[in-house]
Amino acid sequence: MVNVESFQWKLLWRRELFEWEKELQEQLLLILNTTQWKRNGSNDWIWGKEEGNSYIVKSGYALLENTGDRMVKEEFQMLWNLKAAPLALFLVWRVLWNRIPTRANLAVRGVQLVSTTCSMCNMYEESVDHLFLNCDIARKVWDNYDKWIDNTTVRPHSILNHFQSFYLMKLNNKSNLVWLGVWVAVVWEIWVQRNKVIFNEGVDDAVEIFSLAQLKGWLWAKYKNIGLYFSLAEWLLCPLQCLK
Ligand SMILES: [Zn+2]
Repeated sequence: MVNVESFQWKLLWRRELFEWEKELQEQLLLILNTTQWKRNGSNDWIWGKEEGNSYIVKSGYALLENTGDRMVKEEFQMLWNLKAAPLALFLVWRVLWNRIPTRANLAVRGVQLVSTTCSMCNMYEESVDHLFLNCDIARKVWDNYDKWIDNTTVRPHSILNHFQSFYLMKLNNKSNLVWLGVWVAVVWEIWVQRNKVIFNEGVDDAVEIFSLAQLKGWLWAKYKNIGLYFSLAEWLLCPLQCLK
């Protein structure tokens, strides 16, 4: 529902939203609130990838996957086996395909924005690589992660390369599925906090974001019942021992 004067969206749903749907609603509002609408005349949904302008799933998938070789197929398939919540895996899938509504991506799609600078640091363009890896906040979150496992390897500058490098030779495949789940948790928490910052509810606190990611990684490992048994205290103190 829209007020013609100020274009304030008020979304009415037939049932109460689940927690994970609220995040999707925030993303939808973000796109709607940064879109210019015709004041005199009707506004229509148009799917520009089909001749009849009607959306069909087949062309939706074709659009998502037609992005060159940004992600090789094996990694794409492996992603869905990671020990993490399905919605977080879906987010990461979109991050790795550069298909999330960062300000830079919205601008490329022609959405009129006041600014394309990062919602967290307000300094650089909000691209996927910047927001999740190179932003000052993200960098501090990953610094905390490196300290956690005593990692001293050089960090790549692309989020895809970072995902690809997030494999520990010391661990077997099953443990690495949990380990990459931690990576998913960090990306998830950065995105959640970034959206909350936009709506003036979040904290741009790297320690807080990392702590929440550690907790999520532990909960997902427990929930997926993978035969690894360790307490939260053990997980926080010596994660690699827990996964051996
Ligand atoms: Zn930033």
